[in-house]
Amino acid sequence: MKKIKVNNPIVEIDGDEMAKVIWRYIKKYFIIPYLDVKIIYFDLGIENRDATNDQITIDAAYAIKKYNVGIKCATITPDEDRMKEFHLKKMWRSPNGTIRNIINGTVFREPIIVKNIPRLIQNWINPICVARHAYADQYQAKDFIIEGKGKLYISFIPDIIKKNKSITFEIHHFMGPGIAMGMYNTDQSIYGFARSCFNYSVYKKWPLFLSTKNTILKAYDGRFKNIFQEIYNNEFKSKFEILQITYEHRLIDDMIAKAMKSNGKFIWACKNYDGDVLSDYIAQGFGSLGMMTSVLLTPDGKTLESEAVHGTITRHYRLHQNGQETSTNPIASIFSWTRGLKHRAILDKNIDLKIFSENMEKTCIDFIESGKMTKDLFQLSYKDHKKNNYLNTKSFIKKLKIFFDKRMNINT
Ligand code: NAP
Ligand code: MG
Repeated sequence: MKKIKVNNPIVEIDGDEMAKVIWRYIKKYFIIPYLDVKIIYFDLGIENRDATNDQITIDAAYAIKKYNVGIKCATITPDEDRMKEFHLKKMWRSPNGTIRNIINGTVFREPIIVKNIPRLIQNWINPICVARHAYADQYQAKDFIIEGKGKLYISFIPDIIKKNKSITFEIHHFMGPGIAMGMYNTDQSIYGFARSCFNYSVYKKWPLFLSTKNTILKAYDGRFKNIFQEIYNNEFKSKFEILQITYEHRLIDDMIAKAMKSNGKFIWACKNYDGDVLSDYIAQGFGSLGMMTSVLLTPDGKTLESEAVHGTITRHYRLHQNGQETSTNPIASIFSWTRGLKHRAILDKNIDLKIFSENMEKTCIDFIESGKMTKDLFQLSYKDHKKNNYLNTKSFIKKLKIFFDKRMNINT
């Protein structure tokens, strides 16, 4: 079979543990046999991050910026135990955080839907995609304890006094101990967030909702609402009208109720804290971590990094290290390849590559719908089943490969 020619490179970011084990199979069975593609490879395994003083993570992020497509395997974020386990020089930062800071985009999380895997929320027949603004708010706030009686103020003192007046607000007159917090965000970051969301909405051809609590935080959340509306009116209104999709701001309470009643198929732009909390709620509502994908998209819509939401699946890796069987679900990792390749296809106007990645996604879904499952999905589908009729990691991948080959031969 003739391989599909991919005209521009993709950046591959390798990772750790069980995620790395399945990653290797995916590349060998589903990518290399079909694609003539230049892969710029970065090993972000914890040992290599330590050996390079984490320079490898920075280099990988700049390569993604340069080539516009990054496909990433899960990596270990070290803690005290990992420091000891790998004799690390330093507790290196989360690679995802480092990459996000350099690429500066918004993270979109979305479940893969399969008909025969029951969902806790049964009417969620299509995915709900959560876009989390991953900058500031509570995550860079100053919070502190108030020891006793006294007045709390907040001030803004401009660098150039002439242009702007300094302002001070009395927040509260404490009559006893309590707590307080100062929080901020920047217009630049909110504009970037808005553009990422509108671009992703156009890319998916799905409507977009922004949720805030602007009735209470009139200036703060009001700014999010106004910036989104401004970007929509000035840059996206006509594109949305052509695609027949809509943009709406909703109060967060209203939006949560709407989401619960909906059939999915929309993008939900959330402020930082809301996105943190709600993406776990959405993930649980849909089922398994092994079926959640994540992409990081820049405000101009040009650079995309894709990955699975799950981590390195350490518990399964311990079994694998001991020579025991595992049943690890590779679907979200396969989708991190297909989502990255599809972005490459769109940038390069490569129709064959676009069809290839869409076929691969459809094959994965049809395969599971034909009853072939890893343990995580099997447990969701057949709660009361006595027999453990699920596939182990390797046989799932091998059977999926045969299924996919058949389909590709029919199509070519
Ligand atoms: P995890 O790797 O997501 O795994 C947690 C549990 O979820 C697993 O033990 C397994 O449950 C289930 N699971 C996750 N993915 C699965 C899959 N593909 N197939 C089947 N079951 C799956 O989270 P963790 O154990 O908390 O973290 C392990 C390491 O990953 C940590 O070092 C952390 O720093 C790192 N991490 C990396 C990323 C990233 O790179 N994006 C994200 C999160 C965590 P059962 O054991 O019950 O089968
Ligand atoms: Mg969370």
